[in-house]
Amino acid sequence: TPRIFSGIQPSGNLTLGNYLGALKRFAQKQDEGIETIYCLVDLHAVTVWQDPEALKKQTREAAAAFIASGIDPARSVLFNQSQVSAHAELGWLLNCVARMGWMNRMTQWKDKAGKNAEKQSLGLFAYPSLMAADILLYHATMVPVGEDQKQHVELCRDIAAKFNHDYGVDFFPAPLPLIEGVATRVMSLRDGSKKMSKSDPSDASRINLTDDADTIAKKFRKAVTDPEPLPDSLEGLEGRAEARNLVNIYAALADKTPAEVIADYAGQGFGVFKPALADLAVSKLEPISTEMSRLMNDPAEIDRILGKGADKADAIAQPILQKTLEIMGMIRSR
Ligand code: ATP
Ligand code: MG
Repeated sequence: TPRIFSGIQPSGNLTLGNYLGALKRFAQKQDEGIETIYCLVDLHAVTVWQDPEALKKQTREAAAAFIASGIDPARSVLFNQSQVSAHAELGWLLNCVARMGWMNRMTQWKDKAGKNAEKQSLGLFAYPSLMAADILLYHATMVPVGEDQKQHVELCRDIAAKFNHDYGVDFFPAPLPLIEGVATRVMSLRDGSKKMSKSDPSDASRINLTDDADTIAKKFRKAVTDPEPLPDSLEGLEGRAEARNLVNIYAALADKTPAEVIADYAGQGFGVFKPALADLAVSKLEPISTEMSRLMNDPAEIDRILGKGADKADAIAQPILQKTLEIMGMIRSR
C-alpha cells in the first residue's frame, strides 16, 4: 500500500522553494487520499549549530507553515522527529549498514562542508543515513522532495537493499523519490546557479513565507536577471538561468506551464514581469503567513498537535524498529 513520508528541517525561515518544492505538494498528496506522514526533522537541524530557544520557535513556525499550507493534522501525521526516539535508534543501526564512501559521494555534504570537512559535525556527515531511517521506519513507498534531495533518497534505496541482502530478508521496501512539477529546484534570487535555501546567509537570496508584501516586491525587483526582455518561446530561455527561474516560479504559483507564462509575457521586460510576479506571490503567500501568525499566537496548541502526531507516528514506527532489532539479533526480553 502506498505511504508517503517527507520532512523539512526547522533550521530557519521556510522559503518559497520549500513551499513550491515541498509544502504545496505535501498538501496535494494528502488531498489525493494517500497516507501521508510529515516530519519536522529537528534531529537533522542540529547537524549545524542551533540556538536552543530559536530551534523551538523555528519548529513551531515550521509546524504552523505546514498547517497554513493545507496539511491537516487529522488527515496527515504531523510531528517533530525527536519525539519519536525510533528515528535515532534506526539511524544508528543504519549507520552500521551504510558505508563511509557512500556518504562521501553526497553532493549536499560536499556543498555544505566545503573545504572544511574536518570542522563539521559527525552528524552532518551521517545525515543521509538518518534520513534513510526516517523513511524506512515507516516502510514509506514514496518520498516527495525537491531535486536537491534526489541523491539522498537514492542512497536510502541502496541502504535498504544492503540491509535486505546482508540479513537475507525482504524487509525494507525501496522508496521512490517523487520529484514533480516545474518548481523542483527554485534558484536563489541573487545567483542563478545556487538553489534557494533557508540557511543561505543572504536574506535577499530568498522569499521567506513570513515576508510582507513590500519585502516580497523589493526582493523580486532586486532579483539578478539579464537585461533582455522575455522571449516568445521556451527555447529562448536557454542559457538564461535567472529568467528561467522567475518564469518557473510564476508558473508554479499560478498552476500554469512555463510555456503558458511565456505566451502571456512574450516580449515584456522585467520591469513589467517582476511586479506581476510579486503581486502573484503576495496573493498566494499572504493567506499563508496570516494563518501562520494566527497559529503562532498559541504555541501550546502547536505543541499539543505535534505530541498527538508523535503518538501516531510512534505506533507505526515501534513495531518496525523492533522487527529490525530482532532481524539483527538483538535480544528483546522486556
Ligand atoms: P537548509 O538550507 O537548512 O538545508 P533547505 O531550504 O534546503 O534548508 P530543507 O529542510 O533541507 O530546506 O528541505 C526541505 C524540503 O524542501 C526538501 O524536500 C527539499 O528538497 C525542498 N527544497 C529545499 N530547497 C528547495 C528549492 N530551492 N526548490 C525546491 N525545493 C526545495
Ligand atoms: Mg536542505
